[in-house]
Amino acid sequence: MAIQIPSRQLFIDGEWRVPALKKRIPVINPATEETIGDIPAATAEDVQLAVDAARRALTRNKGKDWASASGAVRAKYLRAIAAKITEKKSELAKLESIDCGKPLDEAAWDMDDVAGCFEYFADLAEGLDAKQKAPVSLPMENFKCYVLKEPIGVVGLITPWNYPLLMATWKVAPALAAGCTAILKPSELASVTCLELAEVCREVGLPPGVLNILTGLGPEAGAPLASHPNVDKIAFTGSTMTGSKIMTAAAQMVKPVTLELGGKSPIIVFEDVDLDKAAEWTIFGCFWTNGQICSATSRLIVHESIAAEFLDKLAKWTKNIKISDPLEEGCRLGPVVSGGQYEKVLKLISTAKSEGATIVCGGVRPEHQKKGFFVEPTIITDINTSMQIWREEVFGPVLCVKTFATEDEAIELANDTHYGLAGAVISKDLERCDRVSKALQAGIVWVNCSQPCFCQAPWGGNKRSGFGRELGEWGLDNYLSVKQITQYVSNEPW
Ligand code: NAD
Repeated sequence: MAIQIPSRQLFIDGEWRVPALKKRIPVINPATEETIGDIPAATAEDVQLAVDAARRALTRNKGKDWASASGAVRAKYLRAIAAKITEKKSELAKLESIDCGKPLDEAAWDMDDVAGCFEYFADLAEGLDAKQKAPVSLPMENFKCYVLKEPIGVVGLITPWNYPLLMATWKVAPALAAGCTAILKPSELASVTCLELAEVCREVGLPPGVLNILTGLGPEAGAPLASHPNVDKIAFTGSTMTGSKIMTAAAQMVKPVTLELGGKSPIIVFEDVDLDKAAEWTIFGCFWTNGQICSATSRLIVHESIAAEFLDKLAKWTKNIKISDPLEEGCRLGPVVSGGQYEKVLKLISTAKSEGATIVCGGVRPEHQKKGFFVEPTIITDINTSMQIWREEVFGPVLCVKTFATEDEAIELANDTHYGLAGAVISKDLERCDRVSKALQAGIVWVNCSQPCFCQAPWGGNKRSGFGRELGEWGLDNYLSVKQITQYVSNEPW
């Protein structure tokens, strides 16, 4: 019998709650296409209950509510959550793996990052206590001014399926650290570990209503959350198309949003590189998590003088990537997340082929995988810049290749996109790396690597990759509102 996931309900006000319409969504293991359980489907009525619970938790009784608790108190809960995640790491990793198709050891690393992120924002929560009442110097001595950083309020957090628990944590941890209360709406395609986060919150005794978790479909559960008049802010990670809908809904209420959206990031490889090292980063940067990374460096822009040799190496190594059930030892590439995603990736590849592109390797289901949504890692050349495969995010294991002759040409090719999330430059010449890093229109640039991510450093994009930054101090600021308090100082009695 197929491995089953725990049966859970919605998590509202610290309790499991059956969804108002009693609907559930089947969960399919993308490696086997078997149904392994189901998750509850929230609708507007459940959203209302969750928003009410979050509002009560924010403002309950002075001194007992989450917003006015000290950062040190909030940090204690965040650290307890981190410790529980670490305790349950192997169980959570396995659930993540069968839910979204991620190789088991990658899922285990994600769990380390989840725990690390809760720990990191616990430290920042404590730091906030010391930063309160920061003085502002004014040019007139009979006025005194200081600044308070206050939680924004009740926040809606809507997340995607590629790093289900980690993407949720990037929002939940800073929101709670800042003193906000939250409603998390994970992706319907991978919600299992987020429901386990609810169980963790129960186990550590997080006060009811501080974090509510509603699984369900985007239009049915996400949309009413985004447009809810009593939600003070929306933080969203997902596709550019949905991001635009969220922004429209938030605009009706003049509600702040942060948007972490899609990408089509370049990796520029110059002629002076060590070919082996450059190939390793290129393959990792595009095929890690099966290419289902917003920042995947999926457009290789390589100097024409090394292109043939580099491509040969890439193709040889790519063909050796172990594709298997993600629970199998040594798996490097699992299936894409769903049947829909599988069809989308293969269609983009076949369109590119019909438009004259050359498939160097991959582009098909691996012969040995009879079941599951597997796509061989794919390298495509003979591309022109108007092709869909070059311009649109594939969100699958597809690397597109173009060559360049001059540095200016490489930069122009790299920036010729509506997206602006990330970019990478590989060269021994660090001055050149510096010039190119500055010229790239992106929120994140990697030099001589691709994809490393640290919770201390800001994360986010420009152009249609969104705006706002998560992680680091910037991530905490997303959930804080700044208040100036200015006092007139006079010796005269009032
Ligand atoms: P998606 O936009 O389809 O869904 C994201 C979330 O939005 C899901 O929870 C979904 O249920 C919800 N949603 C859908 N329609 C909605 C609506 N009308 N109102 C409110 N919520 C709605 O994205 P996805 O397919 O889950 O994720 C893949 C995308 O996420 C890719 O484009 C990827 O680049 C992007 N992503 C970006 C980052 C980043 O940091 N910039 C990180 C991870 C993923």
